[in-house]
Amino acid sequence: MSNHVITTTNLGMRYGRHTVLNGLNLEVPKGSVYALVGSNGAGKTTTLQILMNLLRGHTGAANVLGVDSRHLTVKEYARIGYVSEGQEMPDSMTVAEFLAFWRPFYPTWDNAREQELLQLLRLPLDRKLKHLSRGMRMKAALISSLSYRPELIVLDEPFSGLDPLIRDEFIEGLLAHADESTILISSHDLAEIESFSSHVGLLEDGHMAFSEETTTLTNRFREIEVRVELTALPPKLPATWVRAETASALVRFVETQWHPERTAQEIKEVFPTATDYQANAMPLRSIFVALAKAARKAA
Ligand code: ATP
Repeated sequence: MSNHVITTTNLGMRYGRHTVLNGLNLEVPKGSVYALVGSNGAGKTTTLQILMNLLRGHTGAANVLGVDSRHLTVKEYARIGYVSEGQEMPDSMTVAEFLAFWRPFYPTWDNAREQELLQLLRLPLDRKLKHLSRGMRMKAALISSLSYRPELIVLDEPFSGLDPLIRDEFIEGLLAHADESTILISSHDLAEIESFSSHVGLLEDGHMAFSEETTTLTNRFREIEVRVELTALPPKLPATWVRAETASALVRFVETQWHPERTAQEIKEVFPTATDYQANAMPLRSIFVALAKAARKAA
């Protein structure tokens, strides 16, 4: 049995002549909170819709919960919670009616869980869905999707446009029982997902530019500042150093394979007259900016 709840193999998708996915290989480990990130238009929604069999890819295959995504049936959908921004909802129903509507469809629906989520996310049960704000609608969709304890939760840009307080409540609701599920969440805002994702994958140019455990990624990147008098940077620097620049007796660069002893040794070799250096941890957002700029320079 594969340890991955989702795998895609060489997935390709185009709209007309516009290729969106081009050999996408995605693997979402069981029990992970996997953040699929990418800029606007990178193809995140398209990928999630193919996984949910709302769209057909043109080439390759996707496997979800051990089944080809093109053959997902009610049996699998009952084990998946899918929430996307702007999804259609029965607007004339109240929140209570909406939840009552869905309850019979799911044998695993847990009333205690539903109550817990309602309390946590404080939704007015008697309010019609069409009278809810965007954030409140997302909460209603989340409650309806988490109440049946799905093994797999797929969320498409759930936070976009939510105010920070609602977003934190939403994340709390999501993580309340995350230990029993695998979560795939798409986002273009790295600051948002950094605090709780266990894995992060970057979708770029139609494929995964990389996919890594979040802690591995944040552990291997450091912004280094070396105190050294130089007139110009040496022509050859270690390949793992990117974005090197120098100004007022300081050299700055991003070490993409930080290792305390090795990096210290390399700094000594490259800058024998250095008096001191600092290695600062970087937020995900800065790591991605560094990667993108380095890639652009290399291209
Ligand atoms: P965002 O972060 O802005 O939501 P995304 O990464 O989810 O973006 P997609 O919505 O998957 O990106 O769109 C990927 C690309 O495919 C975009 O260039 C978009 O314009 C295009 N696209 C999406 N749906 C269609 C469609 N139905 N017809 C034509 N082009 C489409």
